[in-house]
Amino acid sequence: MKNYHTETLCVQAGYKPETGESRIPQICQSTTFFYGDTQNMADLFDLKAEGFFYSRLANPTVEALEKKIAALEGGAYALGCASGMSAILLTVMTVCEAGDNIVCASEIYGGSYNLFSVTLPKFGIECRFFNADSPADEISAHIDQKTKMVFAETIANPAIVVLDFDKIAEICKKHGVLFAVDNTLATPALCRPFALGADIIIHSTTKYMDGHAAALGGMIVDGGKFEFKNNKRYPAFNTPDESYHGLVYADLPVAFGTKCRAQMMRDTGAIMSPQNAFLTYLGSDTLALRMERTSRNAEKVAEYLSKHPKIEWVRYSSLPDNKYHALAKKYLPSGTGGMMSFGIRGTAKDCARFMEALRLITQETHVADVRSCVLHPASTTHRQLSDAQLREAGIAPNLIRLSVGIENVNDIVADLEKALSAV
Ligand code: PLP
Repeated sequence: MKNYHTETLCVQAGYKPETGESRIPQICQSTTFFYGDTQNMADLFDLKAEGFFYSRLANPTVEALEKKIAALEGGAYALGCASGMSAILLTVMTVCEAGDNIVCASEIYGGSYNLFSVTLPKFGIECRFFNADSPADEISAHIDQKTKMVFAETIANPAIVVLDFDKIAEICKKHGVLFAVDNTLATPALCRPFALGADIIIHSTTKYMDGHAAALGGMIVDGGKFEFKNNKRYPAFNTPDESYHGLVYADLPVAFGTKCRAQMMRDTGAIMSPQNAFLTYLGSDTLALRMERTSRNAEKVAEYLSKHPKIEWVRYSSLPDNKYHALAKKYLPSGTGGMMSFGIRGTAKDCARFMEALRLITQETHVADVRSCVLHPASTTHRQLSDAQLREAGIAPNLIRLSVGIENVNDIVADLEKALSAV
């Protein structure tokens, strides 16, 4: 499978039926699995054998999706989680303990920002934010011996910042720190972060991976190449885990992924449900096709909006005058997805008037599916942030987030045109 292109992996990777078995993975709706002999089960518990014993840790339907996304990202191992947020939380928990810190781009999804800035500090994990445009030495200055991870999004939601992979990868390499990337809005159809220096990739599969707004889910993909062995920054990977038969994770081929499942999935049960894995598996078959169409549509919509007199600015990295255009060309050469933001000339009230006049494009707390939708982040997803935090996250009061779907682009533009005439 390794040498196939993304389009092929979308439909062929993951589940492999034996003769006479169902062609697509079945929903394995069972919490537990039958074993006739004790040794067999003991070997499973000791990680000496592969198999399933309890769906809080692993499940065949979830595994089919894990294998597909691991193949799409070119990773060594993947874990399906209940949501994108649980994938992020489990990633942090796998490397951090109270007293540790993570260094994180401030232009990230509001839910992730909240987890890092409010919730994790309550458990003794500090998050040090950096502006994505900061020079490398400023970002490096946040890193100390207790730093366990640097985190950023490939395309930031909703600030639409494109991650400078070379800059962050170099910093992480220099300090021997894990580089974790949320690749939700780019997807492996547009960007493959492992080839750009990332060590861990996170997805909210709720978004493009499913693509139909049908299933919540998250995915953690371990590239399998980060050197934990004898890395003094990560003592928990180099000392026996007494809660798991004295396992030393750094000695295993996939240290991060195994620790994440054996400890954190075991202790939290934040696994994806088989039903959601099945729906996401089906949705991901068309990921490459959808990302291509969504990107082409969005390019035309961005161009239309950027010329409209009632629009103050448009943030979409495919536009030649966009601040991140050069980075987009470098890291997202085949398209930049459907997410953009723009500012209406006017106030938050004008934004509301515009959104209420839309007929085809709907208001939703969602992005990245087949249907076009809009949201006003300052009054919804990011309403818990202070003005200063909003500014830090790149969100103005007149900012509208638009997720362009796969409808006919002329219909999308016509709907925008009519709604803008109402402002
Ligand atoms: N990461 C990004 C970039 C997101 O946009 C979102 C949600 O919108 C999440 C993570 C959280 O994912 P979920 O809603 O599946 O928990």
